[in-house]
Amino acid sequence: RTRTSAELIEAEEPVLAHNYHPLPVVVSGAEGTWVEDVEGRRYLDMLAGYSALNFGHRHPALIEAAHRQLDRLTLTSRAFHNDKLAGFAERLAALTGQDMVLPMNTGAEAVESGIKVARKWAYEVKGVPADRATIVVAADNFHGRTTTIVSFSTDETARSGFGPFTPGFKVVPYNDLAALEAAVDETTAAVLIEPIQGEAGVIIPDEGYLTGVRELTRRAGCLFVADEIQSGLGRTGRTLAVEHEGVVPDVLLLGKALGGGIVPVSAVVGSRDVLGVLRPGEHGSTFGGNPLAAAVGTAVVELLETGEFQRRAEELGTVLREGLSELVGKGVVGFRARGLWAGVDVDPAIGTGREISERLMREGVLAKDTHGSTIRLAPPLTITEEELRSALGSLEKALAG
Ligand code: PLP
Repeated sequence: RTRTSAELIEAEEPVLAHNYHPLPVVVSGAEGTWVEDVEGRRYLDMLAGYSALNFGHRHPALIEAAHRQLDRLTLTSRAFHNDKLAGFAERLAALTGQDMVLPMNTGAEAVESGIKVARKWAYEVKGVPADRATIVVAADNFHGRTTTIVSFSTDETARSGFGPFTPGFKVVPYNDLAALEAAVDETTAAVLIEPIQGEAGVIIPDEGYLTGVRELTRRAGCLFVADEIQSGLGRTGRTLAVEHEGVVPDVLLLGKALGGGIVPVSAVVGSRDVLGVLRPGEHGSTFGGNPLAAAVGTAVVELLETGEFQRRAEELGTVLREGLSELVGKGVVGFRARGLWAGVDVDPAIGTGREISERLMREGVLAKDTHGSTIRLAPPLTITEEELRSALGSLEKALAG
């Protein structure tokens, strides 16, 4: 007998670490924009795996690429070359306008790798004295969960109980060029920011901020590292969120959608001056750049090369913004949106973000709260206008109780 959703949720309790608080839905299948639970109930996915499913669930081109590769070769480790990696790196570098690729697996690994590369660059190229390099980051950042990354988090829940922390980071307020300017000095290896802060609630900086960060870092002789793990790969209506200001960082961190929702694939992408500092033995990953990941990643890049997903995100983003504007005053107190990505602040008097997410779930829509009373919407970029309007209708109902 297959177990029910309720039984499976109960069964997890004693055997799974409690580091998440999922909505009480047990998904067992999915296609495109829709997921299905164990009882056969269907839900519109308005979270898309925190943007890992930008192309929807099981996109046919991605599944085909994965199947084809599964039948040939899945892992070599980097002890040997594999026939899929060169093409992946060439295509990804071309897509992002950069020179070189350092393939990794998860987002946090890309961030860690970016930090290591920036430090190495600071010592070898910039001439920062040994062990003195600093990296300037923004308050309310989210870059992942490793010990070094939580060292510069400003979220007490993410940090508390996990010290001692890695030194070498300076935190300044986000969207504040003057504070950044004051923090940058001759020891600064890099400024590391999210072009839009995702976990913080889809916080979009003022027009000119990213341009300012680019100019400031160039002037100061330090790197601009943009964490596009959540904002990148079509989500905001551009391949990269930095393109909204026509800015080219020295280093891009990519992940999530790069694996097509199939396998974990991340990458540090950057100029030859920077990524060129790594030499054999200094960094690596057993699975990073594996042929299955490279095959899926290449298929992802091919989808993005068409421009179709960026265009959809841009066009449907207008529908999303208009729909959310109409909900302001009807339970929504404010929202921020770019492309198919929104942080929606709900009136705490109506319910917590969690409660609204649960009501949405009962309406057949899956989304997740972040930071108390904000709901993040990030549907697959394959969503139709009709589905998007229907999701907005469900949100209206959920807000009405
Ligand atoms: N960086 C950003 C901007 C993210 O949003 C995330 C995940 O949400 C990460 C890094 C970490 O990625 P991962 O969970 O794959 O380690």
